[in-house]
Amino acid sequence: MLEELVMETCGKSLRDCSVDEAYRALLKLVQNEAAKRDIIPKKKKLYYISAEFLIGKLLSNNLINLGLYDVISRELEEAGKSLSELEEREPEPSLGNGGLGRLAACFLDSIATLGLSGDGIGLNYHLGLFRQKFKKCKQKEKKNPWIEPDSWLIPSDRKFTVEFGDFTAKATMYDILVTGYENGTNRLHLFDLDSVDESLVRKGIKFDKTQVEKNLTLFLYPDDSDEEGRLLRVYQQYFMVSCGAQLIVAEALERGCNLHDLADYVAIQINDTHPSMVIPELIRILTDKGLAWGEALKVVTETCAYTNHTILAEALEKWPLSYIEKVAPAILPIIEKMDKEIRKDHEEESVAIIDKDDRIHMARMDMHFCHSVNGVAYLHTEILKNSELHDFYKLYPEKFNNKTNGITFRRWLLHCNHPLTEFLEEKIGQGFKKDAAKLADFLRFREDDETLTRLAEIKRENKCRLAAYLKNTQDVDINVDSIFDIQVKRLHEYKRQQLNALYVIHKYLEIKGGKLPKRPITQIFGAKAAPAYQIAKDIIHLILCLQKLIKEDPEVSQHLQVVMVENYNVTKAEKLIPACDISEQISLASKEASGTGNMKFMLNGAVTLGTEDGANVEIHELVGDKNIYVFGEDSDTVIARYARGDYCSKDYYKKNEELKEAVDFIVSKKMLEIGSKTKLNRLYSELLNKDWFMTFPDFPDYVETKERAFADYEDEREWAKKMLVNIAKAGFFSSDRTIAQYNEDIWHL
Ligand SMILES: *Cc1c(COP(=O)(O)O)cnc(C)c1O
Repeated sequence: MLEELVMETCGKSLRDCSVDEAYRALLKLVQNEAAKRDIIPKKKKLYYISAEFLIGKLLSNNLINLGLYDVISRELEEAGKSLSELEEREPEPSLGNGGLGRLAACFLDSIATLGLSGDGIGLNYHLGLFRQKFKKCKQKEKKNPWIEPDSWLIPSDRKFTVEFGDFTAKATMYDILVTGYENGTNRLHLFDLDSVDESLVRKGIKFDKTQVEKNLTLFLYPDDSDEEGRLLRVYQQYFMVSCGAQLIVAEALERGCNLHDLADYVAIQINDTHPSMVIPELIRILTDKGLAWGEALKVVTETCAYTNHTILAEALEKWPLSYIEKVAPAILPIIEKMDKEIRKDHEEESVAIIDKDDRIHMARMDMHFCHSVNGVAYLHTEILKNSELHDFYKLYPEKFNNKTNGITFRRWLLHCNHPLTEFLEEKIGQGFKKDAAKLADFLRFREDDETLTRLAEIKRENKCRLAAYLKNTQDVDINVDSIFDIQVKRLHEYKRQQLNALYVIHKYLEIKGGKLPKRPITQIFGAKAAPAYQIAKDIIHLILCLQKLIKEDPEVSQHLQVVMVENYNVTKAEKLIPACDISEQISLASKEASGTGNMKFMLNGAVTLGTEDGANVEIHELVGDKNIYVFGEDSDTVIARYARGDYCSKDYYKKNEELKEAVDFIVSKKMLEIGSKTKLNRLYSELLNKDWFMTFPDFPDYVETKERAFADYEDEREWAKKMLVNIAKAGFFSSDRTIAQYNEDIWHL
């Protein structure tokens, strides 16, 4: 198939063309095939609005979904090329940050796979989220350009204008085709500012934040540690929702909607609070087009639904009224009128949209003016109802519902783990690819020696593959006979990479003292820290210093290795996850809304070491006590301690000698010789004087539980059984299940 297209586009045979030429031809071929399968909405259509879509590379996934993977692989092989070299050529779009953006990408895949009519709406960030580099044991941020002349972006002929307080922006919509697995195609619509200017960017990721006419769609999450940065974020948000709302209304009208019945034609899912201004923007458009105020409120509420992703107070957006006045004056009176409307019926200050300090609480606006409010895992939704959003739950109990997150098995199994996929096909047939619940059939082989041996072999193959990749990309040598213990996710204190680092120090000190582990341990980390998040960068510094210290100490490095993977992204995740033995999910109980990394690891036969937090709770319930390692205080204990406000980390430090030694080591002579005195001291004193995410109380149980997991690992057969149970029980975490529930309970497409 590819042969003819290559001949047409560059006048050469597939054999004679370059990898680059073959890649560009294949890109076109996939786009042509995908466009033939457009899903046409019957009446109602979904729009999933999100500031991030962490879509990853698209080539292989699209080929799998279109059923072309084998044909194209073979054709390339016969011409002396390989699909994997073409994949290497593809840049990863940097349109997302972490779990929230990856969730949006998994959801688009599942929406198309279920044949539902639903498009994504977001922004076309030219330089995306920064690319991470390590230098002198520190994170450096570089720009991350990903758009090439031939890319997945297809310019549409839809043009938009957005009225800001100080200028009028012109926008173009680009589309990325979203293929469903053996089903139709939807679209991801990305809006872009016509006057954007990449040359504004100076060293690293620095640029003039005030030149909004040129910088609006340059970066995802520009630094918001100053007012200019925060204003820019509001400009981005309003730009996204204004274009989005205009598109939604135009398409609904084209389908025969009369706007009074908008909710019969449109469902809008608001992914976290970044797109919340779509609510007043839609009200503005509807009232402009003649709907009365009360009716507009009602129609918009019936159309919109809100997903909450966090209970961290500092992550709940509150914008000063003055920002909206400057950026989007047209919706300011609407937001003020909405606030008045609410204050008429409710006197509690805690549910007001605009607070006494003239700040707009975006999540509160969502909860009042959406018909559905959902959390993303069982425990998370319970915490929302019972504590964080309790006042709203009392007002609107019928709005609250849970939708436990999921992941697409096309990417996180079929694409990233071929050996396991083929083995599953051999054992339980093809059914699990369309219906993930069928993975449960694999449980039949729980006591089958041959199956268990093969599972262990597959894990080893994947570990070898990862070792070769790390050798190639970062020039590190890792021991494939060691235990691969992996923690990869954004860097945040609540996720507690620092707790894992304390364990590394503890183990290092044990080895120095002559207590050697039975089997070598490889601790792999991967994480980006937000550029202005000081302590997070200090934690990266600590890990990189430990990596260096241990690497240069052969006495230790034959037993313990630390590897921090640079620039953790989807492509790296796809290599790391299939090779993992132990999946670190150690957030402070109550703080991780769901986690989706935990699901990817489980599906690929890693065993979880985690707290009773987020979806770990559901993993625990599914696999049972024997197939997961759970430690630490539970969420009730943690929430109660926050409420009392009496946590004192020093008390724990004084009582536990091993903990004290590990913490003190951060500022030991050895460490200060390698690292930055300022950074290490700051981290040390943060832990000793604050430790806001309570690593010290969980430290003893963490160490003990991890040692137990390592000991159990020595029984290869028993360990393979744990792997098998984890794989077989992962079906629940397919995003196809999640999306079916959203549709059943919220969207009704
Ligand atoms: C899945 C994924 C995440 C989310 O990981 P969590 O452990 O759930 O925080 C973040 N980044 C990338 C690249 C991912 O693939």
